[in-house]
This record gives sequence, C-alpha cells and structure tokens, in this order.
Amino acid sequence: MNGMTRPTSASENPLLTDWTGPFGLPPLPAIKPEHFRPAFERAMAAHRTEIDAIAASPSAPSFDNTIEALERSGHELDRVSNVFFVLAGADSGAAIEAVEREISPLLARHSNALYLNAKLYARIAELYRRREALGLSAEQARVLDRYHTRFVRAGGALDKPAQDRLAAINERLASLGTQFGQNVLADEKAYALVLEEGDLAGLPDFARDAARAAAEERRATGKYAITLARSSCESFLQFSSRRDLREKIFQAWIKRGENGGATDNRALIAEMVALRAERAKLLGFKTFADYRLDDQMAKTPQAARKLLDEVWGRARAKAAVERDALQAMIAQEGGNFALAPHDWRYYTEKLRKARYNLDEAEIKPYFQLDKMIEAAFETARRLFGLIFTPVTVPLYHPDARAFEVTDAQEHHVGLFIGDYFARGSKHSGAWMTSLRDQEKLSGDVRPIILNVCNFSKPAAGEKALLSFDDARTLFHEFGHALHGLLSNVTYPLLAGTSVSSDFVELPSQLYEHWLEVPEILQKYARHAHTGEPMPQALLDRLLATRTFNQGFATVEYTACALVDLDIHALPDAAKLDVSQFERDDLERIAMPAEIVMRHRLPHFQHLFSGGGYAAGYYSYMWSEVLDADAFEAFAETGNAFDPATAQRLRDWIYSAGNLRDPAEAYKAFRGRLPAVDALLKKRGLDRAAIEPGNS
Ligand SMILES: [Zn+2]
Repeated sequence: MNGMTRPTSASENPLLTDWTGPFGLPPLPAIKPEHFRPAFERAMAAHRTEIDAIAASPSAPSFDNTIEALERSGHELDRVSNVFFVLAGADSGAAIEAVEREISPLLARHSNALYLNAKLYARIAELYRRREALGLSAEQARVLDRYHTRFVRAGGALDKPAQDRLAAINERLASLGTQFGQNVLADEKAYALVLEEGDLAGLPDFARDAARAAAEERRATGKYAITLARSSCESFLQFSSRRDLREKIFQAWIKRGENGGATDNRALIAEMVALRAERAKLLGFKTFADYRLDDQMAKTPQAARKLLDEVWGRARAKAAVERDALQAMIAQEGGNFALAPHDWRYYTEKLRKARYNLDEAEIKPYFQLDKMIEAAFETARRLFGLIFTPVTVPLYHPDARAFEVTDAQEHHVGLFIGDYFARGSKHSGAWMTSLRDQEKLSGDVRPIILNVCNFSKPAAGEKALLSFDDARTLFHEFGHALHGLLSNVTYPLLAGTSVSSDFVELPSQLYEHWLEVPEILQKYARHAHTGEPMPQALLDRLLATRTFNQGFATVEYTACALVDLDIHALPDAAKLDVSQFERDDLERIAMPAEIVMRHRLPHFQHLFSGGGYAAGYYSYMWSEVLDADAFEAFAETGNAFDPATAQRLRDWIYSAGNLRDPAEAYKAFRGRLPAVDALLKKRGLDRAAIEPGNS
C-alpha cells in the first residue's frame, strides 16, 4: 500500500476536518488507517509551533500567555490521538498496529521536547514563584501547580548535563522494559506440558478443549498441552487431581524470567532498579519509592507501607485458617502430605463446591447484559439524576451502541458509547476511554465517553449473558465513565479521570458496590427465559462466597506490594542479586510457606515491563480502602441512595476531576480521611472472620 506516503490534503483527510457529526462526533466511518500518519504529523507540527510561540513570547510571563495558552494548545493532536487510541484498543488490525509502532516513539519525543523546553520551564517557574501575587482563582492555582509539578518531575528544572543524563536513563529504561516483557513472553511461549488423554483426570470439558487446541497449535495433534498462559495453567492447578503434574506446571509457572540464558530477567531488574534510583537522586529524592509516591495521594512510602502492614498480619492469620481447612480435607481423603503451593488452588476449588454448592451455569441466566446495563443506568439516575437514552449515530463498529446522557432538567450532559462484545480486533480486558473530555475553556465542551469490554457475543437471536464477575466489570467501567461524564471543570488538564493513580480507581471500585444492593439485584437479575427474579437462597449463596479464600488472595497480592516498595527503596542496586533479595525480603515479612507471590520479581510486568506500577503496586489496595470506606457513608444512613450523601459524592469526587489534592477531596466528601475497617470487613479480614471455625 502506498497510502501511507501519498500526500493527503486536509480537505480529504477526515481526521483533519471539524467534528460536525451528531453530538459533535468525528466522522468515524470515514476514517481509514492511512489517514493517521499524515494527521499525526500535521497535528504535532501545529502543536510544536504553538509551544515555540509560547516559549519565545517577548511578553513577560502571565497566567494567560503561558498556562492558559498551553491549555489551549495541541487541540488537533488531542483529537487525532483520541480517535487513534480508541481504535487501537477497540478495533485494531495490522494497519493500525503498524501506525502504532511508527507513531509511539514520535509521540514520546514530542512529549520530551515539551517537558525539557528550558525557555518554557523558566516562564512556568517564574509564575509559580509569584503565584500568591497573581490573583488566581482556586482552579487556576491548581492548574499552575500541576504544570509546575509535571515539569519539575520530568527534569525541567535540572541543568543541561543532568537533563542529558536523565534523557539517557529514560531511553535505557524504555528499552530494558521492552526486553523484560519480551523475555517473559518468550519463556511462556517456549514451554508446554504435553499430556496424554490418561493424564487429564479432574479437568472439566472447557479445560480439556483448550488443552487440545493448544496441542494442535503446537502440532501435537491428538495430545493435550498445558501452557503458561494464566487461564491454561491456573485451571489445570484448580482441577487436575494429578499432584505430580500440578507440581511440574507450577514450577514452570513461577520460574518465568528466571531460567538462565538469554531470557533471564534478573540482570535487567538489577540495572532498572539502579537506574531508577539514580534518576530519583538526580531529581532530589532519597529513593525511587520516595520520588514515585511524592505525587500520589499516599505521598510517602511510609504511608503506603502502614496500610499494607495493617492488612498483612490479618491476611496471614486468615490464610492460616484457610490452610488448616485445606489440610483437613487432604487428611479426610486419606492423603499423607503437607499442603504445598501447587495444592492450594485444587483443594480450594473442592472446598468451594462442598461449602457453597455454587454452579456457574445456575447463576449465568440471571445476568443478562441488557438488564445489567439498565441496572447501571438506573443506579446513576437514583444517585445523580442522569437519564440515558439510546440514539443511533455513526460509530466505528456495528456492535458499539450510543446513549445520550441528560440531567434531571433535560440538559445535555454528554454521549456514552458502550462497546461490550469481544472480537478479534479488540485488545483483551475492559477499560474506559474518551473521544472528547469535558472542559469550559473553549466553550461548554461536553464529553464523549466509552466503555470497552470483552463479553461473549451470543448467537443470533440469543440474549447476551454475563457471569457475576462480568457484571461487576460492567459496573466498574461504568463508574469510570461517570467520572468522565459528570466532570465539571474549566481547564482540560484537570478533567475527569486525570487524577493520581492511587485515587483513580475510587469512582470505579465504589460503583461496584451498587451491583450488590438488594433493590438493584431483585429488579434487574432476572432469568433470561422465565423473567423470574433470582431466588433469595441462590443470591445468598452467591454473596456468601465474597470472602471465601480472601486470606490467600490478600497474602498473594500484599506480598508483591511490600516487595515492590522494598526493592524500590534501595539507595543503590548495582550489585543486586535479585533472587537472593526476594528470598530475604519474603523471610523478613514471614511469607506463609504454602503461598507464592502473585507475580515473582523475574516476571513482575507491572514493575518492569514499562514502569506503570513501579513502587505503585500498593495502589489497588489504597483505592480499595477508599471505596470500602466511601460506601460505608451510604450504609451509615441506612439508604444506599441517600440523596445528601450522593450529592456530596458528586460534588467532591465524581464531578471534581483533579481540582483538589485527593486527600482534601476525600475529606470534604466523608468529613474525615478513610479508615481501613471497611476494607477489612469487605475482604473478611476483620477479627470475627479470622477466629478459627469462622472461615
Ligand atoms: Zn479501573
């Protein structure tokens, strides 16, 4: 194809035209992969021109000519990027992937050039010094503060040699991160446990089918292969009654990235940890963990560690109770061995069946996708007065559906797009994203928000059904969507979900709680064929499993979060022996012998394949403390839809974007900072639940 190089004029490239579709949508059906490269190039060049003009302005820096000018710049690039990344996630293919490989380094360079622009930084720094005298509104002061922080954290304030070193470190870290991920993938691809029909004792049909398909892919037709993909090896560990084979696959699973040779990740980890420590020092911090947490809600590694420590002791106690129940089951079956890590999932699955008699096939017909969407909308109506009305508009795929969102006064709030079904062109997982974010700087700009999921598409004429976990995912992503839709800020930088990563899961995890509110389930969990509501006894059994095996899950997770903070608190790691470090650290925290970290360091991609969660793996639990405590605010009133509490939630959390420091915002909503008690209760880690005999 020569479409990539053919010169495209603005008039024939739909990405470079105004968005004049219904609700201000871009002309999605007309956009082709070959339109992106020229549109990106033009948009980046336009943004560079804008930035250069701001930086080179002969006028003394003012909020208007610097900060507000930056906020007004890059509009075209935002629009092109938003469309591109929606498609790259939800409707990709070889052509979009090729554009992504080409464009990612260009975008990275574009952003480096912005944050290391010395003239621009000097203007921002001067404004920041004079901030008290500028007569700014509270929101303007916050925008200035965020710009200043971003530039400083990126190295804008450093001298040239330090900036050069920082740029070199960043580049090296980027390539080490890519290598780390590819090594894990290579170890996963290289391994398969090839089995005969007679080795499959205990496996349900879906696991046998998957193993046969995996063998065929490896040209071992007629045999069965268990691979190191989580779904393959976890279901084998759950169901296989062959203890010897469980041990084999488990050992391979936990050794990924630690097998010696070209794909061993331990040297890469040592180098990455050392480079991160050096970067933190250049930027004036004692350790990388201090640098990373300084701009989070937690603020310090000590604060994150305090939460983890509080949970850790209880999680270990609960896991010990669980272990004893599993060991008793082994004895009952006449087994004469101590429970090992490769036994945990197998005996847990048996115990789950024995205790709760819960069958996925019995639950599923009660969770229809369309009814669960209605349930999420109804919850938003009762909490925030929002109405969702289906509309027909041109989108990028026939499975995506759109709803106009209006408020109680029938004012237009935004557009919500739900793209729910799995397909080959979609990445796995579920996420919220946007085509346009709310702001008021260039008029009353209304948001266009998407939820993208991977639920199974039903056969023609059938109703789409969800598992209970799927329904929870739908509510989770819809909570993020409301964070975008209800956003009420002036400056784009502060809109919607642009908050710190240990705060951003609050609106989403909190929303999950309403799925379990009895009024919602009784009204919307209805059998797909009979229309009957779910029987109370079944509902009770379903809700009773919420705290089952949570000791194990909490230990498996919390150990990772603690080791993450510890390795990123090392002042220097040049001679780090990664395996030894992990062993020593686990011994220090008294890790139970029957449980292995959810992600061992040599394949801990959250930390080392890119740096997204480096010294930040604690964030999941931090947000969970917030959401459990926030829902208690409703529980305390005796009304899950209490109007006064809902109004505070809207004012301080869902509509507030990044207007305030997250701790301040939370305090304004709740009247105090969060307490950990509600989280402990939610996970069944409160004292009553840990007493033996109560597991
Ligand atoms: Zn989320």
